[in-house]
Amino acid sequence: MSDLKLRGIKRRFGAFDALKGIDLDIEHGEFVVFVGPSGCGKSTLLRIISGLDQADSGDIEVEGTRINDHTPFERGVAMVFQSYALYPHMTVAQNMGFPLKMANERPDEIDRKVQAAADVLQLTALLDRKPDQLSGGQKQRVAMGRTIVRAPKLFLFDEPLSNLDADLRIEMRVEIEKLHRRLEATMIYVTHDQVEAMTLADRIVVLRAGSIEQVGPPLELYENPVNMFVASFLGAPKINFMAVRLISCSAASTTVELSDGTNVKVPIPSENLQTGSQLIMGIRPEDLTPGDGDFRIPFVMDLQEQLGPTSYLYGKSGPDKIIAESRLRISLKADAVHSLGAALERVHLFLPEGKSLRPIAKSKGIE
Ligand code: ATP
Repeated sequence: MSDLKLRGIKRRFGAFDALKGIDLDIEHGEFVVFVGPSGCGKSTLLRIISGLDQADSGDIEVEGTRINDHTPFERGVAMVFQSYALYPHMTVAQNMGFPLKMANERPDEIDRKVQAAADVLQLTALLDRKPDQLSGGQKQRVAMGRTIVRAPKLFLFDEPLSNLDADLRIEMRVEIEKLHRRLEATMIYVTHDQVEAMTLADRIVVLRAGSIEQVGPPLELYENPVNMFVASFLGAPKINFMAVRLISCSAASTTVELSDGTNVKVPIPSENLQTGSQLIMGIRPEDLTPGDGDFRIPFVMDLQEQLGPTSYLYGKSGPDKIIAESRLRISLKADAVHSLGAALERVHLFLPEGKSLRPIAKSKGIE
């Protein structure tokens, strides 16, 4: 049975449809990450799950019980926001125990639960400190501790790390991952940061303009995106898109012509497409390199960015802007024509409106 079931969740603000009918099943113990561009509805969906906002229509079930009319407290969900909102006059222990005090739990019970949460979050030595004596990461751990003590069925995180500096983000990301493993709790996490999404998620939910575009494990979405939107949303630097022309199609492969006239037989089935029609070829920067390949594209480089183990090559192939990745520690000449190799099985093909031509396994987002 899924832990959380969303069916037909809609939310309107005035004339604006913020959520257009969300269907999603989340299993017990899963770590699910919502990603999508600003304004796509991630936080609204999280707030509706938490009970801080109400859907206009649709159903939310937790462990088989419809919870639409339950208060946030009754839902057994806990939310961690990007602002820690700790009480400055209270110690760490008092901050963490506060929700239990409000629920009139016995002081010895509160103490036991706070100690246990502090142990999980490695805050035991800091329990008597006030928030102004803590680092940003420690404050965020206290904010998490405040939710853990309530032993929620569901943790909801709304960009909890976005106020932290880069090093601390990585440290906290690892902490959250460990916490998930230790508590075996169901977690839903909203982020703009696709590295967080790729590393933390059991499954990623990609949202666009109030609808789900694709749901699946990070690598599945990365390697088999349903459309150009998902393909370009995951991956940094972004996937390259090149306009190509259809030469022939069959149940086994699609042959296209690149802008320099090269024909490439891509092992992606396609049928009933019109010869001569336009398609879009997608190749990720790491799959387009100055090394060997099944086929080659010409490349005029503007700039090479050295990162140490790799470098990014920025330039053009015909009319298309290209970013390639080189693992060879050599400098390439700018403004010169180079040749980049690509592997056929790494190539994506899309229809002009964005849909992928690759056969996609049915999404496991819904039972
Ligand atoms: P971000 O990544 O920028 O936080 P988001 O994906 O979390 O964005 P939401 O905060 O869920 O987006 O907002 C979705 C849309 O609904 C946005 O266009 C936003 O302006 C709109 N919206 C959200 N809350 C309200 C509100 N209370 N009144 C009017 N419009 C709202």
